[in-house]
Amino acid sequence: MTPTVLRAFCGAGILLLAGAAATPAQTTPTEIAAAADVLQQIEALQTRLNPTARALRLVEEMAPAKRAAMEAASTWWTGEFRALSDHIGRNPEVGWQEFATVDTLVRVMEAHGFVVERGVAGLETAFTATWTSPAGADGPTLGLIGEYDALRDIDGPFHGDQHNAQTPIVLSAALALRDHMREADLPGRIRIFGTPAEEVGPPAKTIMLDAGVFDGTDFLIRSHSGVSTSRARAGFGVCCLNINEVKYTFTGRPAHQLTSWNGRNALQAAVRFYTSVDGLRSTFRPEASIQGVIPEGGVAPNVVPARAVVDYYIRYPDEVYLEHISGMMDDAARGAALATGTEVSIDRYGEYRDGITLGSLEELIWAYAEALDAPALDPVRQRPAGYEETGYLTRDIPGVAVSVASSRETYHTKGMEADGMAAFGHRGFELDARIMVAVLYDYLHDEELRRVVAEEHGILRGLLDTYHVRLREVYQPELSAGSVN
Ligand SMILES: [Zn+2]
Repeated sequence: MTPTVLRAFCGAGILLLAGAAATPAQTTPTEIAAAADVLQQIEALQTRLNPTARALRLVEEMAPAKRAAMEAASTWWTGEFRALSDHIGRNPEVGWQEFATVDTLVRVMEAHGFVVERGVAGLETAFTATWTSPAGADGPTLGLIGEYDALRDIDGPFHGDQHNAQTPIVLSAALALRDHMREADLPGRIRIFGTPAEEVGPPAKTIMLDAGVFDGTDFLIRSHSGVSTSRARAGFGVCCLNINEVKYTFTGRPAHQLTSWNGRNALQAAVRFYTSVDGLRSTFRPEASIQGVIPEGGVAPNVVPARAVVDYYIRYPDEVYLEHISGMMDDAARGAALATGTEVSIDRYGEYRDGITLGSLEELIWAYAEALDAPALDPVRQRPAGYEETGYLTRDIPGVAVSVASSRETYHTKGMEADGMAAFGHRGFELDARIMVAVLYDYLHDEELRRVVAEEHGILRGLLDTYHVRLREVYQPELSAGSVN
């Protein structure tokens, strides 16, 4: 089967889902029922805002300065940042360990006049790099997201998802935009967000969001590798289920096994809990996906284990039912602790949620991709998934992901890594940089686009809340204590 690969997010080792391209983000019958009027409202909103017509107008009204900025992005890419992308590609580092990569990127950004802050949000390999216009900061703050972590493989890390290219692409667009803003004497700020460890939890972008790192950002843009050039429909959803990442730590009391009555066995508690979760599976709706491991379970057979850890990824298509599953699992953990005289602490260290996708921006990147004759154009609108994998950022700040086809192989493969350092990938990345700077230019110059983006984002955020209220209503009979017919 040739899957229709959805927008490429891969956080927490999320699988890319395959499915009919016209599939709505709402997948279960319950979700579809709950979303019916919400989807109608999204449809009506798109008809009223007419993002396709606006996108075509913006692309056709090609101001000489915009054309020059796009050319400049190409020049930065081929002249400097293509080589940087390949260099990072040849020196892969996995999530949270991207030390040499960040050293290199920071050196380059400082050399180009960005003010860099490292270790933001307490994350060693996260950073922000800011350029403030000589005309003043009193304009939009335009944010660009760059990732740089590699994948793990048995023979070492590799850039099978082409994250090596992301920050060099962003730099090409950012410097082209900086030059334009300087020349045109436009106030505002450009800020690059270095976001580590997209492939492993906990989700860095949410930690950075909670720490206020994205505060004051008006607009966000990012790129990602792609196997086709496509756009998404407006709305909300996620490519790969909503996820809770939860660590359950059981604490008992150590003792020698020959006097085990003096101890309290945390491993027993962990095993009971693990088995209880298996027992619960038939109680959950079939779309639930729950995987766990026991990474800690004691140190020696002759010592009663005083500490055991169970680590779960809990996934469901919507966050309302996901909370129900999580709640029952937390109860099962407390039950296992009670049954064994141990204690349990529950740490939800990561969450991934539905993100918001804006028609006004998706149609714009598509119109540019078509005008630039990007490779592997797929006109079918994909399901909405937000522009980044955690979802939360997309709810707070409007933005878009640019993803021109950059490989003929699929995600997370050696073939995609090879394409990323060869002509096919290089061409896709250059087009990403060109589209990025064009969209940033439009956002900066076109007041109507800014207004429509803000309006669409606000309305979709409200509709997402409405959708969750509807879901709670639909699930109510099933989740309440009484009997269900
Ligand atoms: Zn990725």
